[in-house]
Amino acid sequence: MPAQPNAPTAKPAVPTKYLGPVATVFKASPTGSWRDVRPELVKERCIACGICAQHCPLDVITVGKEEFHIDYTYCKGCGICANVCPKGALAMQPERREG
Ligand code: SF4
Ligand code: SF4
Repeated sequence: MPAQPNAPTAKPAVPTKYLGPVATVFKASPTGSWRDVRPELVKERCIACGICAQHCPLDVITVGKEEFHIDYTYCKGCGICANVCPKGALAMQPERREG
């Protein structure tokens, strides 16, 4: 088949952490009170590999040598982080609500 005259010659550069438009809007919006479950770290199991942070669509997980942080203001409780963790170090727990 002949090459298309206007076909792009190279793939466009994609940022390593691409947040699509929906995720970007979600990230800009505090989650509020509708979330029913949240991921909680089981510290003894975590090897600080960062896989959870790489997969979080909201980019709200920070993993460092001495630090593990989830920004619950924006976390949507989707559970992707818990599903990809190779050590089972994130447990989805029910929200604890007052009253
Ligand atoms: S549940 Fe995990 S993957 Fe989903 S938004 Fe919260 S921290 Fe990110
Ligand atoms: S994927 Fe699991 S083991 Fe790796 S940093 Fe996240 S919680 Fe820790």
